[in-house]
Amino acid sequence: MSVMSVLTDRVLAPALPQETIRQHRAEIRADVLRRSRYIKEPNFTAIHPSDVELLFDAYDHRFFAGCCKPELKERPLRFGVSSRLTVSGGVTKRIRSRVSGDVRFEIVIAGGMLFDSFRDPAHRVTVCGLECADRLEALQRIFEHELIHLIEHLCWDSSNCARTRFQEIATRVFLHREHTHNLLTRREMAAKAGIRRGSQVSFEFDGRRLTGHVARITKRATVLVPDPEGARYTDGKNYRAYYVPINALR
Ligand SMILES: [Zn+2]
Repeated sequence: MSVMSVLTDRVLAPALPQETIRQHRAEIRADVLRRSRYIKEPNFTAIHPSDVELLFDAYDHRFFAGCCKPELKERPLRFGVSSRLTVSGGVTKRIRSRVSGDVRFEIVIAGGMLFDSFRDPAHRVTVCGLECADRLEALQRIFEHELIHLIEHLCWDSSNCARTRFQEIATRVFLHREHTHNLLTRREMAAKAGIRRGSQVSFEFDGRRLTGHVARITKRATVLVPDPEGARYTDGKNYRAYYVPINALR
Protein backbone atom coordinates (compact mmCIF):
# COMPACT_ATOMS: atom_id res chain seq x y z
CA MET A 1 0.00 0.00 0.00
CA SER A 2 1.39 3.38 -0.85
CA VAL A 3 1.13 6.31 1.48
CA MET A 4 -0.18 9.38 -0.28
CA SER A 5 1.55 12.61 0.52
CA VAL A 6 -0.37 15.46 2.14
CA LEU A 7 -0.02 17.35 -1.12
CA THR A 8 -1.46 14.49 -3.19
CA ASP A 9 -4.40 14.32 -0.80
CA ARG A 10 -4.91 18.01 -1.14
CA VAL A 11 -4.67 18.03 -4.94
CA LEU A 12 -7.16 15.19 -5.27
CA ALA A 13 -9.60 16.68 -2.74
CA PRO A 14 -13.06 17.77 -3.94
CA ALA A 15 -13.22 21.12 -5.69
CA LEU A 16 -13.61 24.33 -3.73
CA PRO A 17 -16.76 26.33 -4.52
CA GLN A 18 -16.16 28.45 -7.65
CA GLU A 19 -16.77 31.59 -5.64
CA THR A 20 -13.94 30.65 -3.23
CA ILE A 21 -11.58 29.94 -6.14
CA ARG A 22 -12.32 33.37 -7.65
CA GLN A 23 -11.88 35.02 -4.28
CA HIS A 24 -8.50 33.34 -3.67
CA ARG A 25 -7.38 34.55 -7.07
CA ALA A 26 -8.55 38.09 -6.45
CA GLU A 27 -6.68 38.13 -3.14
CA ILE A 28 -3.51 36.88 -4.83
CA ARG A 29 -3.88 39.58 -7.49
CA ALA A 30 -4.20 42.26 -4.81
CA ASP A 31 -1.26 40.73 -2.95
CA VAL A 32 0.98 40.89 -6.03
CA LEU A 33 0.01 44.48 -6.82
CA ARG A 34 0.74 45.48 -3.24
CA ARG A 35 3.94 43.51 -2.63
CA SER A 36 5.75 43.32 -5.97
CA ARG A 37 8.41 45.89 -6.69
CA TYR A 38 7.80 45.50 -10.42
CA ILE A 39 4.15 44.65 -10.96
CA LYS A 40 2.50 47.90 -9.97
CA GLU A 41 -0.44 47.84 -12.33
CA PRO A 42 -2.56 45.16 -14.04
CA ASN A 43 -0.88 45.86 -17.39
CA PHE A 44 2.58 45.93 -15.85
CA THR A 45 5.61 46.74 -17.98
CA ALA A 46 8.27 45.00 -15.88
CA ILE A 47 8.44 41.62 -14.21
CA HIS A 48 11.16 39.91 -12.20
CA PRO A 49 11.77 36.27 -11.22
CA SER A 50 10.97 37.28 -7.62
CA ASP A 51 7.39 37.94 -8.82
CA VAL A 52 7.08 34.31 -9.88
CA GLU A 53 8.29 33.33 -6.41
CA LEU A 54 5.73 35.66 -4.90
CA LEU A 55 3.03 33.89 -6.92
CA PHE A 56 4.32 30.52 -5.78
CA ASP A 57 4.10 31.47 -2.11
CA ALA A 58 0.66 33.03 -2.55
CA TYR A 59 -0.84 30.08 -4.44
CA ASP A 60 0.77 27.52 -2.16
CA HIS A 61 -0.66 29.33 0.85
CA ARG A 62 -4.18 29.93 -0.46
CA PHE A 63 -4.86 26.87 -2.58
CA PHE A 64 -2.70 24.15 -1.03
CA ALA A 65 -2.43 25.13 2.65
CA GLY A 66 1.34 25.52 2.23
CA CYS A 67 1.81 21.83 1.28
CA CYS A 68 3.85 22.41 -1.89
CA LYS A 69 6.96 23.85 -0.31
CA PRO A 70 7.59 20.99 2.18
CA GLU A 71 7.01 18.47 -0.63
CA LEU A 72 10.06 19.90 -2.44
CA LYS A 73 12.03 18.23 0.38
CA GLU A 74 14.90 20.72 0.21
CA ARG A 75 15.25 20.30 -3.56
CA PRO A 76 15.84 23.73 -5.12
CA LEU A 77 13.05 25.45 -7.02
CA ARG A 78 14.25 28.24 -9.28
CA PHE A 79 11.99 30.90 -10.79
CA GLY A 80 12.59 32.68 -14.06
CA VAL A 81 11.16 35.04 -16.65
CA SER A 82 12.27 34.56 -20.22
CA SER A 83 11.92 36.47 -23.45
CA ARG A 84 13.12 33.40 -25.32
CA LEU A 85 9.98 31.34 -24.81
CA THR A 86 8.10 32.11 -28.00
CA VAL A 87 5.38 29.46 -28.11
CA SER A 88 4.63 28.26 -24.56
CA GLY A 89 3.34 30.69 -21.94
CA GLY A 90 5.65 29.09 -19.44
CA VAL A 91 7.69 26.00 -18.75
CA THR A 92 8.24 23.83 -15.70
CA LYS A 93 11.19 21.50 -15.54
CA ARG A 94 12.39 18.72 -13.32
CA ILE A 95 16.14 18.63 -13.82
CA ARG A 96 18.29 15.75 -12.62
CA SER A 97 22.03 16.34 -12.41
CA ARG A 98 23.89 13.69 -14.39
CA VAL A 99 26.80 13.95 -12.00
CA SER A 100 25.20 13.91 -8.56
CA GLY A 101 21.72 12.64 -9.43
CA ASP A 102 20.29 15.59 -7.46
CA VAL A 103 16.94 16.88 -8.62
CA ARG A 104 15.95 20.51 -8.91
CA PHE A 105 12.92 22.26 -10.34
CA GLU A 106 12.41 25.35 -12.44
CA ILE A 107 9.36 27.44 -13.35
CA VAL A 108 9.89 29.96 -16.14
CA ILE A 109 7.28 32.41 -17.42
CA ALA A 110 7.28 33.79 -20.98
CA GLY A 111 7.65 37.49 -20.20
CA GLY A 112 8.14 38.50 -23.82
CA MET A 113 4.81 37.09 -24.91
CA LEU A 114 3.01 38.78 -22.01
CA PHE A 115 4.46 42.11 -23.08
CA ASP A 116 3.69 41.54 -26.76
CA SER A 117 0.09 40.79 -25.87
CA PHE A 118 -2.35 43.34 -24.43
CA ARG A 119 -1.14 46.07 -26.76
CA ASP A 120 -3.91 45.72 -29.31
CA PRO A 121 -7.34 45.89 -27.64
CA ALA A 122 -8.86 44.03 -30.60
CA HIS A 123 -6.81 40.93 -29.76
CA ARG A 124 -8.69 39.13 -26.98
CA VAL A 125 -6.37 37.01 -24.91
CA THR A 126 -7.40 33.66 -23.51
CA VAL A 127 -5.12 31.50 -21.40
CA CYS A 128 -6.20 28.01 -20.26
CA GLY A 129 -9.54 28.66 -21.95
CA LEU A 130 -10.29 31.71 -19.81
CA GLU A 131 -10.42 35.23 -21.18
CA CYS A 132 -7.87 37.54 -19.55
CA ALA A 133 -8.51 41.26 -19.25
CA ASP A 134 -4.91 42.24 -18.55
CA ARG A 135 -1.34 40.96 -18.22
CA LEU A 136 -1.68 40.13 -14.55
CA GLU A 137 -4.66 37.87 -15.22
CA ALA A 138 -2.76 36.13 -18.01
CA LEU A 139 0.28 35.78 -15.75
CA GLN A 140 -1.85 34.17 -13.03
CA ARG A 141 -3.43 31.71 -15.50
CA ILE A 142 -0.01 30.78 -16.89
CA PHE A 143 1.39 30.38 -13.40
CA GLU A 144 -1.55 28.18 -12.33
CA HIS A 145 -0.85 25.92 -15.29
CA GLU A 146 2.85 25.70 -14.43
CA LEU A 147 2.09 25.09 -10.77
CA ILE A 148 0.06 22.01 -11.68
CA HIS A 149 3.05 20.77 -13.68
CA LEU A 150 5.22 21.20 -10.60
CA ILE A 151 2.67 19.49 -8.35
CA GLU A 152 2.40 16.53 -10.73
CA HIS A 153 6.21 16.24 -10.66
CA LEU A 154 6.19 16.34 -6.87
CA CYS A 155 3.36 13.83 -6.46
CA TRP A 156 3.87 11.47 -9.40
CA ASP A 157 7.38 12.20 -10.76
CA SER A 158 6.03 13.05 -14.20
CA SER A 159 3.74 15.62 -15.73
CA ASN A 160 1.89 16.07 -19.01
CA CYS A 161 -0.74 18.70 -19.67
CA ALA A 162 -2.08 16.75 -22.64
CA ARG A 163 -3.16 13.99 -20.25
CA THR A 164 -6.42 13.49 -18.40
CA ARG A 165 -4.96 13.67 -14.89
CA PHE A 166 -3.47 17.11 -15.49
CA GLN A 167 -6.58 18.49 -17.14
CA GLU A 168 -8.85 17.08 -14.45
CA ILE A 169 -6.74 18.78 -11.72
CA ALA A 170 -6.58 22.05 -13.68
CA THR A 171 -10.35 22.12 -14.08
CA ARG A 172 -11.11 21.18 -10.50
CA VAL A 173 -8.55 23.41 -8.76
CA PHE A 174 -8.43 26.41 -11.11
CA LEU A 175 -11.53 26.09 -13.36
CA HIS A 176 -9.29 25.88 -16.46
CA ARG A 177 -11.10 24.82 -19.60
CA GLU A 178 -8.14 24.22 -21.88
CA HIS A 179 -4.41 23.76 -21.57
CA THR A 180 -3.47 26.25 -24.27
CA HIS A 181 -3.28 30.04 -24.76
CA ASN A 182 -3.61 32.53 -27.58
CA LEU A 183 -1.01 35.02 -26.42
CA LEU A 184 0.64 36.77 -29.32
CA THR A 185 3.51 34.65 -30.55
CA ARG A 186 6.45 36.05 -32.47
CA ARG A 187 5.19 34.35 -35.59
CA GLU A 188 1.84 36.13 -35.30
CA MET A 189 3.57 39.43 -34.61
CA ALA A 190 5.66 38.98 -37.71
CA ALA A 191 2.58 38.01 -39.72
CA LYS A 192 0.89 41.21 -38.54
CA ALA A 193 3.84 43.20 -39.79
CA GLY A 194 3.35 41.39 -43.11
CA ILE A 195 6.43 39.22 -42.62
CA ARG A 196 6.06 35.49 -43.06
CA ARG A 197 8.14 32.60 -44.30
CA GLY A 198 9.27 33.33 -47.81
CA SER A 199 8.83 37.12 -47.50
CA GLN A 200 11.42 39.21 -49.28
CA VAL A 201 13.00 41.48 -46.69
CA SER A 202 15.89 43.83 -46.30
CA PHE A 203 17.87 44.86 -43.25
CA GLU A 204 20.95 46.76 -42.21
CA PHE A 205 24.10 44.75 -41.47
CA ASP A 206 27.56 46.21 -40.88
CA GLY A 207 26.47 49.42 -42.54
CA ARG A 208 25.22 47.61 -45.65
CA ARG A 209 21.62 46.92 -46.64
CA LEU A 210 21.14 43.22 -47.38
CA THR A 211 18.18 41.60 -49.09
CA GLY A 212 16.99 38.02 -48.75
CA HIS A 213 14.01 35.87 -47.86
CA VAL A 214 12.70 34.76 -44.47
CA ALA A 215 13.38 31.08 -43.82
CA ARG A 216 12.22 30.81 -40.22
CA ILE A 217 10.70 32.96 -37.47
CA THR A 218 11.38 32.38 -33.80
CA LYS A 219 12.42 35.19 -31.50
CA ARG A 220 14.23 36.54 -34.53
CA ALA A 221 13.76 35.88 -38.20
CA THR A 222 16.24 33.74 -40.06
CA VAL A 223 16.90 35.54 -43.33
CA LEU A 224 18.74 33.81 -46.14
CA VAL A 225 20.76 36.22 -48.26
CA PRO A 226 22.16 34.93 -51.57
CA ASP A 227 25.93 34.67 -51.15
CA PRO A 228 28.26 32.61 -53.35
CA GLU A 229 30.41 31.90 -50.31
CA GLY A 230 27.45 30.84 -48.16
CA ALA A 231 26.23 27.32 -47.51
CA ARG A 232 24.41 25.39 -50.24
CA TYR A 233 20.70 24.94 -49.60
CA THR A 234 18.20 22.40 -50.97
CA ASP A 235 17.16 24.74 -53.78
CA GLY A 236 20.72 24.41 -55.12
CA LYS A 237 21.63 28.03 -54.36
CA ASN A 238 24.10 29.39 -51.83
CA TYR A 239 23.00 31.55 -48.95
CA ARG A 240 24.33 33.05 -45.82
CA ALA A 241 21.90 32.99 -42.86
CA TYR A 242 21.36 36.12 -40.74
CA TYR A 243 19.37 36.24 -37.50
CA VAL A 244 17.55 39.53 -37.47
CA PRO A 245 15.12 41.00 -34.91
CA ILE A 246 11.71 41.14 -36.54
CA ASN A 247 11.31 44.88 -36.03
CA ALA A 248 14.57 45.52 -37.91
CA LEU A 249 13.15 43.99 -41.09
CA ARG A 250 11.53 45.83 -43.95
ZN1 LIG B 1 1.77 22.48 -19.97
